Amino acid sequence: MAAAWLRACLIFVLAAGCASAELRAGAARRTITPSLDRGPVWLAGFGLNRAATGIHDDLWVRCAALSDDSRSVVLCGADLIGLFYEDVEQIRAAVRARQPRLNVVIATTHVHQGPDTMGLWGPKLGVSGRNPDYNRLVIERTVEAAQEAAATMRPATLNAAQVTSPELESFIHDSRPPVVLDAELIVLSFDGRDGKPIATLVNWANHPEVLGSKNTLITADYAAWLYQRLEQRWGGTVILFNGALGGMQSPLGASVKDPDTGLPAPEASFRKAELIGMRVADLAWEGLAKSKPLRVDTVVYRETAVRIPLTNANFRKALEAGIFGPVKRLEPDGSLRTVVGLLRLESRGRPVVEAAMIPGELYPELSRGGIERYPGADFPDAPFEKPLKQIMTAPFRLVVGLANDEIGYIIPKAEWDEKPPWLKNAERPWYGEVNSVGPEAAPRIAAAFEELLTARAGRRK
Ligand SMILES: [Zn+2]
Repeated sequence: MAAAWLRACLIFVLAAGCASAELRAGAARRTITPSLDRGPVWLAGFGLNRAATGIHDDLWVRCAALSDDSRSVVLCGADLIGLFYEDVEQIRAAVRARQPRLNVVIATTHVHQGPDTMGLWGPKLGVSGRNPDYNRLVIERTVEAAQEAAATMRPATLNAAQVTSPELESFIHDSRPPVVLDAELIVLSFDGRDGKPIATLVNWANHPEVLGSKNTLITADYAAWLYQRLEQRWGGTVILFNGALGGMQSPLGASVKDPDTGLPAPEASFRKAELIGMRVADLAWEGLAKSKPLRVDTVVYRETAVRIPLTNANFRKALEAGIFGPVKRLEPDGSLRTVVGLLRLESRGRPVVEAAMIPGELYPELSRGGIERYPGADFPDAPFEKPLKQIMTAPFRLVVGLANDEIGYIIPKAEWDEKPPWLKNAERPWYGEVNSVGPEAAPRIAAAFEELLTARAGRRK
């Protein structure tokens, strides 16, 4: 069924430039810090009834516009738990009303210390935590930042770096088998002809939840220090695109040594968030400092719709109760419609950068490989999905999570485990399925991305 639907679905080829074109880049940002003066702001990501009591640092939407003279794409990152596709559609419609050929990709960092933009974390069960006025503010400011980024584009070159290190892995604790980390740091710096960075894109996979479930101060978490430090040392508007951060890539439980004391930074502390953000920034800077300019003459963005059967009874109940707000809806057949995208930067027909735009929290096995068959799995014979970074061919391969939607965890079907016995004969169920749309999410998304990757530019099918 999935394959038949995919074959029939329409692939939008949104941008395809010509080989002699010139890369241009622009950047802009806006704060999206909520006001605490107009009623409670419910903090998202952990339990219910966590009202914000103050602001530690600003939340941002940060955008980079890229163009090859022919068509343009704007890539925005926002310090939010997640944004539904329906909100993304509103941003796109507003931008297209003025610039019909300008496409916008918006990914959230998945910060757990910001407002509930989805509805799941209200004051009590059955009451939405989503404030439509705040979502409107996010939409307006994202539209402004996207338009300003596009309006300020100028000729640019690309510097790219790929950094792997045991230190990056040490910031991540994986609480579910198999222990697979996708800890590589990919950094793309788009620099003006004057050599000054315009936009600096950082792709790394880890939950921004250092501050934990008891914090009530609004903060961008480790991203706050990453932005500040990398902008100071390298420059450009720094944008964090989180990666395959599912199953379960978290700084909670990771021991991070404080060089000032020689001891691990206290769990759930601002100091721990600072140390992670600063070190990721420093490693990104070191990578960029060694990089050489790369020629880019073509910017391609393609996107395809994916339908996923919604089998999560709690999500369905929440949807029917209006917890997700009035805009969230299912397809007539009960499936959830979302989108998968591919950004490709090319030089003379060869890919230089490929980025998978994935609408949720991908398990790292689906990004870099390492799916396991365990006793207790609900679909023991399910084929393994092809890992996204293995099927891409560009020297720089990014997986951007929570892009254009947040559908929850995307779990390899062979590791899906909703029914006892539990994986590896565990006494309790593993955490994950409760926050996933269903077992078809991974195979459908992986197949849709492969289709995008292999479709020839310019072809409609
Ligand atoms: Zn998460």
